[in-house]
Amino acid sequence: MSVNQVAAYAAPAPKAPLERTTVPRRPVGAHDVLIDIKFSGICHSDIHQATDGWGEGIFPMVPGHEIAGVVTEVGPGVTRFAVGDRVGVGCFVDSCRECEYCLRGQEQFCLKGMTGTYNARGKDGEPTYGGYSTHIVVDENYTVRIPDGLGLDVAAPLLCAGITLYSPLKHWGAGPGKKVAVVGLGGLGHMGVKIAHALGAEVTVLSQTLRKKEDGLRLGADHFYATSDEVTFDELAGSFDLILSTVSAPIGFDAYLRLLKVDGALVNVGAPEEPVALNLFSLIGGRKTLAGSMIGGIAETQEMLDFCAEHALGSDVEVIRAEDVNEAYERVQAGDVRYRFVIDASTI
Ligand code: NAP
Ligand code: ZN
Ligand code: ZN
Repeated sequence: MSVNQVAAYAAPAPKAPLERTTVPRRPVGAHDVLIDIKFSGICHSDIHQATDGWGEGIFPMVPGHEIAGVVTEVGPGVTRFAVGDRVGVGCFVDSCRECEYCLRGQEQFCLKGMTGTYNARGKDGEPTYGGYSTHIVVDENYTVRIPDGLGLDVAAPLLCAGITLYSPLKHWGAGPGKKVAVVGLGGLGHMGVKIAHALGAEVTVLSQTLRKKEDGLRLGADHFYATSDEVTFDELAGSFDLILSTVSAPIGFDAYLRLLKVDGALVNVGAPEEPVALNLFSLIGGRKTLAGSMIGGIAETQEMLDFCAEHALGSDVEVIRAEDVNEAYERVQAGDVRYRFVIDASTI
């Protein structure tokens, strides 16, 4: 098969509205699968990048790294997938495959840099284009299987939002007897609540207001507090083993570190565009950890999908038509999403 042009939605320039266009997909190589994309989640990272909030963006940019679809062609060397398989692609589509982290299955920390699903350049030097598109060609080693029990629409957001919360929850030992707080009830946060609850932890949501309280409790939280209420920080001081911050804007971590027990950890997964200030006294008293975490490796992403299928955990989604993507971006920025927009790729 020669290089194919496929339909996609792209931001032509930083902050420009996304518009319909076509982008090239490489021929299906020996180890590639061609995926007919069915659904593509809208992650806040898409918005940071399409607006060039993180800088150095490659335009035109086709965002989308929460991809769910069906295999329609496989290369001759493909062993793990067959035509008709339900598959997903997350935040990266390649890595060096040789460094200690790649060999350990932590490709997201590849020393040579993983190849992002979009806004990156592949080993061939060509820009990568993401999931707001009808088709994508991906190496089978960077493709995961979506279990039958999960609908492709509710599975798509698991490829980024799901794994980004699953990985630190597992790494920091969330489970029975552990008190876990999730800061920010958005796309990431709502999956954090579901997964932490399924792991058996006692879960608290820390949201700006009580507007989403009913949702939070329905999603699996045991407690729900508003961070706009100063009393919250006094009431909850010294309460948590683990706090996961999913906030997309800079927030003051000192106040949240106060909420940890001795030896507790505040793990930030939010990726705000501006730096944050920190008072180191917040860490030394109580031997506290402030850490970060970024998505997860391929093997762990598969483990997360299997876990979510076993516990019937899909994302709460609002499926949209592709032409409504710009409106969806505005609504995410305004905090008006419950809890993930997903593009129906058949409308592209
Ligand atoms: P989202 O759906 O917009 O959710 C973010 C939530 O943060 C909002 O729902 C809101 O929750 C809270 N929030 C927003 N602005 C706030 C502010 N000024 N102060 C306090 N809380 C605020 O975004 P998302 O898709 O979940 O992504 C969240 C962040 O994680 C983004 O920065 C994204 O780039 C990053 N991210 C990181 C990784 C990683 O691997 N580390 C992966 C994916 C995404 P409440 O209304 O409940 O307060
Ligand atoms: Zn993402
Ligand atoms: Zn590597």
